[in-house]
Amino acid sequence: MSAIYNFNAGPAILPAPVLDRAQRELRDYQGRGMSILEMSHRSPEYEAINAEAAERLKRLLGVGEEYHVLFLQGGASMQFAMLPLNFLPPGASADYVLTGAWAEKAYEEALRVGQTRVAASTAETGYRSVPSQADVTLDPRAAYVHITSNETIQGVQWHAWPDVGDVPLVADMSSDLLSRPLETHRFALIYAGAQKNLGPAGVTIVVVRDAFLQRASAHLPVMLRYATHAKNRSLYNTPPVFAVYMVNLVLAWIEEQGGLAAIEERNRRKAATLYRVIDESGGFYRGHADPKHRSLMNVTFRLPDETLEKRFVAEATAQGMVGLAGHRSVGGIRASIYNAMGQDGCDALATFMTDFMRRNG
Ligand SMILES: *Cc1c(COP(=O)(O)O)cnc(C)c1O
Repeated sequence: MSAIYNFNAGPAILPAPVLDRAQRELRDYQGRGMSILEMSHRSPEYEAINAEAAERLKRLLGVGEEYHVLFLQGGASMQFAMLPLNFLPPGASADYVLTGAWAEKAYEEALRVGQTRVAASTAETGYRSVPSQADVTLDPRAAYVHITSNETIQGVQWHAWPDVGDVPLVADMSSDLLSRPLETHRFALIYAGAQKNLGPAGVTIVVVRDAFLQRASAHLPVMLRYATHAKNRSLYNTPPVFAVYMVNLVLAWIEEQGGLAAIEERNRRKAATLYRVIDESGGFYRGHADPKHRSLMNVTFRLPDETLEKRFVAEATAQGMVGLAGHRSVGGIRASIYNAMGQDGCDALATFMTDFMRRNG
C-alpha cells in the first residue's frame, strides 16, 4: 500500500491507529467470537461503548450532568430541521447568522418551520469572514441564535464567540468540534455530523443543555424529539452502532494525543504551514478567507485560472495528495486538514505548492 495524504472534506481522514484497532477487533470483539457489527444494541458490550463514548465526549468538552450527549442519525442536515421543530414554537422567532453555505442551509430549513431573522450576514462580501460583534443585531427575545462555527466550504471559522446575552446560543460544529478547546457552557446546543472530524458517516452528535431541553416542544413525532433520545441515552431505537464504536475510538485517540489543547496546537501549526505558502506566493495563491477569519480545518484558495487549478489537483493526486478540489459550488482548491491529518501531510502539500508555483508562476 503506497502512502497517500487524504485531504477530503468529509467523509474524511481517520487516525490510522483507530482504523488498525477497528480492523483487529472486527471479527472478534473482546473475545465474544463475533463482530460488534453483529451484536445487539442492548448487549452489555454495546451499552458500554455507548456510555463510554458519551462520557469521553463530556470529559473532553468539560461538562457534566447539566448536558446530554446524544448519538442521532440523519446527519447535520437533519439537525437543520430538528432544531427549529423542537425549539421554535409558533409565535417565537429564531436568529441566524449567515457566514457561508452551511449556515444558509440551516437558515433555509428553519424558514420552513417557523419565524426566523437574519441577525447578521457576510454574504455581500462573499463569505470571507464572520461578522464582528457590532454587525450582529440580535433579537433579545429570540428562541435561540444559530451560528456555524466553521464553514467547511468557504473555509471561514469563528475564533471568538459572539456575545448573545441571555439568548440560547446554538452552533453547527460539524467540521471543527474537538479541534480546539471549547467553552461549552456558552452553548445551549451543539450538533455535528461525525464524518468530518470525529468518525465515519452515519452518526450525528448533539450536545444539549438540560435546562434548554426543558423548553422543547412535546408535540412532535417521538423520533424527532431530542427528549426521547436524552431519556433513552440514545438507545430509543437501533443506533448506528458501528459509527458510535468508531467515534468512541477516535475520542480515545484524542485523549491519547493530550486532549484538546494539544490538538489545537498541532492544528494551528498545520494550518500555518499552508497559509504561509499562500501568503508568500506573491498572489499566485489567493486565500478565500480574510486572514483573521481563516479556518484551521479547511484551507481554501484559488490559483490564477481554472486550467491551473485543474492541473494542480491532477498533479497533486498523482503524487498521492487526494481530495483537494474545492466544493463544486465554489471551485478552487480546498485542503481539509482535520485532527487526523499529521504535520507530514501539510509539509508534503506545502512543498508541492511551492514547487508547482515555481513551475507555473
Ligand atoms: C458537512 C456539513 C453539514 C452537512 O452534514 P450532513 O451530515 O451531510 O448532513 C452541515 N454543516 C456543516 C458545517 C458541514 O460541514
